[in-house]
Amino acid sequence: MRRRPLALVWCAGLALAGCTTPSAPVGTAGAATGTGATSATARTSTGPGTSATGGAGTPTPTASAASATPDPGDPPGPPDELSVAEARARIFVDDAAAVAAGADACSGERAERGAAIRCLHDKAWSGSPATRAAADALFELTGGVVGLEPAQHMEGGWRGPIELVPEAPIGRHLRHLTWIVDANRDFVRFFAALEARAGKKVGYRYRGVAYRFTRSVNKATPSAYAYDWQVAYNVMGSLHWSGDAVRETLFHEIFHLNDAAHGDWSPRALSAIYEGIMTRCTKRPTGPPEHACLTPYAPGSTTVRGGTYYAFTPGNGVMEYGAELALRYYREHRAALGMQPAGGKPFKCGPSDNGVAWRALVDEFFGGVDLTAPCP
Ligand SMILES: [Zn+2]
Repeated sequence: MRRRPLALVWCAGLALAGCTTPSAPVGTAGAATGTGATSATARTSTGPGTSATGGAGTPTPTASAASATPDPGDPPGPPDELSVAEARARIFVDDAAAVAAGADACSGERAERGAAIRCLHDKAWSGSPATRAAADALFELTGGVVGLEPAQHMEGGWRGPIELVPEAPIGRHLRHLTWIVDANRDFVRFFAALEARAGKKVGYRYRGVAYRFTRSVNKATPSAYAYDWQVAYNVMGSLHWSGDAVRETLFHEIFHLNDAAHGDWSPRALSAIYEGIMTRCTKRPTGPPEHACLTPYAPGSTTVRGGTYYAFTPGNGVMEYGAELALRYYREHRAALGMQPAGGKPFKCGPSDNGVAWRALVDEFFGGVDLTAPCP
């Protein structure tokens, strides 16, 4: 498995980088829907409190990573499709597990990618017809697959170590997979409506993502993290309490994957804006940036302990600002497309930094499509 280094592994709920204890959300900015404020609250879930730069928090596999050997007869699909070999490597925790489950029997169907991947789902989830059906439904919707994340050990700083173990989305955990399928269904509707309204393709990838299930031992973080077109999903994650919360968390995570595919765009394009805001709003030399100062710049409404907005939590870095900006785009455009109630003032109509960041995001990831109302 191609596991990215820490700098390219992102989490939901501040799980892997500079996490702090959550407090109640402040205000309702960004809560463009009935779910916005509450799901945003969940997004302030605590994490292990690791340093983004010190190496702590790097997922260290304690089980061998999945490593299916690519077959010369299994050429990679288009950029937003998983090949059969990729699907196999993501569905099972490792190749030994794949062999034990009988995945080799699927190779005979390799001539047809869909049949082979459905066969892999069948082998992996033979014990739960409902899980297998949901996994296949996901594959039909967006080409995504459902698997298990290998065991991980994370050094969680002052919160202590975090153990993540594979956990199947069966029984009481099946609801999480249902929410993921629902979220993918929403993404299909959203981008179809967006592209229909714009009259052009947007090009944002949400297809061909592998969802790999895990469970944190005696903790509720991290809720999710993303790497290599994979989202590791923690069934104990404190963010995962409703379908809407999961949908927004996944959009946030999938932005990180797109950001990486664009050569880590956020640091290149947003650092000047982000650092400017952080500097402007950090009034005390040793203190965090001040909440009231950050308010006009925050893409979301949530705060962590100390009153710092999620997007501006010291140690998180500019990539979280980028992901929250993308989530704001998603919320405002769902409203513009009639998929959720309209919110307040468009983000771009705030301080000039907001407008610049918004335009850059729109042009880089969403084909220049901006359906939000023009600023007065
Ligand atoms: Zn993130």
